[in-house]
This record gives sequence, structure tokens and C-alpha cells, in this order.
Amino acid sequence: MSSGKGLTMLGGDTKSLKIHNLVKAPANTPWAKERQQSWDASYPATVYSTPEMTTDGQPCSAVTVILRTKGCHWWWSSGCTFCGYFNDTRDDVNSDDLHAQWQHAKQKFNNFEGHAMVKVYTSGSLLEDREIPIDFQETVLRDCFEFDKELIVESRTEQLTVEKLAWATSINPNFTVAIGLEAYDDEVLRFHVNKGFSAASWDRAVERLQKFNLRVKTYLMFKPPFMSEADALDHCVKWIEAVAEQSDEISINPMNIQRGTVIDRLHRHREYRPPWLWSLVELIQQSHHIVHPNGGMNGDDDQISRLIIHPTAGGKIRGSHNCGACDGEVVAAIERYAVSGSLNEFDGLDCECKKRWNQELTNDRSIPVPLGTSMPRRGSLRDILRSL
Ligand code: SF4
Ligand SMILES: [Zn+2]
Repeated sequence: MSSGKGLTMLGGDTKSLKIHNLVKAPANTPWAKERQQSWDASYPATVYSTPEMTTDGQPCSAVTVILRTKGCHWWWSSGCTFCGYFNDTRDDVNSDDLHAQWQHAKQKFNNFEGHAMVKVYTSGSLLEDREIPIDFQETVLRDCFEFDKELIVESRTEQLTVEKLAWATSINPNFTVAIGLEAYDDEVLRFHVNKGFSAASWDRAVERLQKFNLRVKTYLMFKPPFMSEADALDHCVKWIEAVAEQSDEISINPMNIQRGTVIDRLHRHREYRPPWLWSLVELIQQSHHIVHPNGGMNGDDDQISRLIIHPTAGGKIRGSHNCGACDGEVVAAIERYAVSGSLNEFDGLDCECKKRWNQELTNDRSIPVPLGTSMPRRGSLRDILRSL
């Protein structure tokens, strides 16, 4: 923040700052530049395997390959308020580097043998030609088709043109595109997330994906910046409802604080508390009927979509957390739900801190201040209420 009132919502006498400038500033600092140059462009950021479910509901193993890339073209011109991917990119990564990274991943997991699924993440969009050279896009699509692996890639909406999808499906006719929609609400997309696309552009992209028989995975953000806990919960249930029919899978990303982002500054300023794990449990309990109208579990006939939450940094102060004593147990139940889709996973879960969480929701709803009333918001009550 360049002034004491950088994120003031009611404003003062000075001209207000644009969210764009708040997003961009840290990426240009010496520590960020130095970090970017420290990466070895011929090695992927990380490669690991996790338990997963195949598209037809069978338990399987998935390899996740996170490539070191030039990052996201939206970030180059602006960027989302919570996105810390700029920490992990290098602006000179070329096709040879990416092929070397891919080779490394294939070697590490023996051409993905024994793993039914491969997720290829690029800190941006795999099908965006300005970010990823076309020959490398082709390598990923072709290899996964030839190895007969279920492939998941990530993309923003504007890359998913008819021409691009026609080309991609001519190489690999069967993959999943995960889109970081974050919120099915233009106001939230614009003022909380700075996403750079609208809910309608997601609608159109999904329509095109379905025309090409590709699967759709939708990421929604739980508790974006400038939103209270209660608002996050109430909004997110509505967004799940809005996207369920069109999404094969809905993955809720509870906010975790990444270094150098707008949300990082709010958090350090004690103006933002990452979501309570109880809110995630409540979210699942309130939304389960949307994805399973007859109360079924994953794989049952009533499944409209699969709802999953993996609380990144769950239990840590920069991730979703409760009081510290119950966090492990609650995270484990949420993770189990992602696989089973059964509400029974939450049977018997309780803790003293649940009362505090409940009180916070009540406060948020009766004193609807934009930044919420959560405990870490210390200081003058007058300033809190005015969101100064
Ligand atoms: S679109 Fe995705 S990768 Fe690009 S800035 Fe936003 S969150 Fe980051
Ligand atoms: Zn607790």
C-alpha cells in the first residue's frame, strides 16, 4: 500500500487507488524479481501423485505436474487479487525448457504407468499460445492420449474458442478443462477478484466445451477479499447452485494466503481471516442437495456434479482454520467427503470453537460490514465498522 489508507473502502480526500495497482506492485519488487530468476527452467515446479477418482467414479491415482512457465497473460496486464503464481514463474521459459520439464515428470512416474489421471498445471492456461508454445500444448495433449490417461488442464475462458477446441480435440478428443471461475457473480468477479472476465463468458466457454464433449471442472473461491465469513458462505451456496448443472466437477478453493498478494496485505493488516473450517463443513451441508438431489453419494444415479474441497494449508494460519485443536479432524472429514460424497463423514464432529464461529456468522449478518467482524480485526471499533 502506498498510503495509510490504501485499501479504504469508504475513501478519504485523496484519489482512490485502483485494485490493478495494488495487485501489480509486489511483482515488481526486487525480492520477487530475484526469486523468479532463481528457478531452474528445465525442472517442473513440482510433480507428485495423489489419490483421485476417475470420471466414472472409480478410485485411482493421479499425477499432478506443475510446470515452471511464463505465467498467466492476465497477470501480465493485471491479475487476480489472490494469485501468487507470479512467485513461481520465469518470463523466459521456452518450448525446450517445457519439453525438458515434461520429460522429467514422465521419467519420475515411468510414463505415468499405474496412474489413470494426469493433471497438467501451468500457473495460467495450457491452451494460451502467448503463455505456452503450441508445440508443447500438442505434446501434452498427444502424450496423454497415447498413454490413455485422463487429462486435466486449466484455462481461463477466452482461450476456449471453437478454433482452439477443434484443434485440441483433433489431437486428444477427451480431456477435462478446469476453469477458475471463482464466483458466479459479476460484481464479485470485478471488485473482489479482479478476474478480467464475466460469468457470461464462463457460460459461453462451457457451452463450447460441451459442444466438443469435453468435461468441465469449475473452481469457485471461498471467501475472496473484502468479504465477510457469512457473506462468503451465503454467496458460495448460490454459486454452486448456478454452476452445478454445467459442471462435471465443482472444486471449492478456500482462500489461502499467498505471498505478495492483495489478500496477503489485508491479512497482515489483520483485516482478513482465512475461512473457518466450520464454514466449509456448513457449505457442504447446505449444498449437498444441489449436487445430489436425492441425498445420494458420489457415483449414485442422482449425481448432478461432484463437489470437492481440498483446504490448501488447512489448519494453518494462512489457510482455512479453526481453533487449532480440532483442525486436523475437520480437514480429514472434508477431504473424505471429496472422495465419498457422503454427509456421514461429518457425524460427531464438534468442538468448543464452533460456538465462536457461529457467533461470528451472527455478527456478520446483523452488522453487515464489508470486511466482516472476525476476531483478528482488532483496533478501533469505529474504524472496523467503517472498514477503514
Ligand atoms: S487467471 Fe488464474 S493464473 Fe491468471 S492471475 Fe488469475 S488466478 Fe492467477
Ligand atoms: Zn476447535
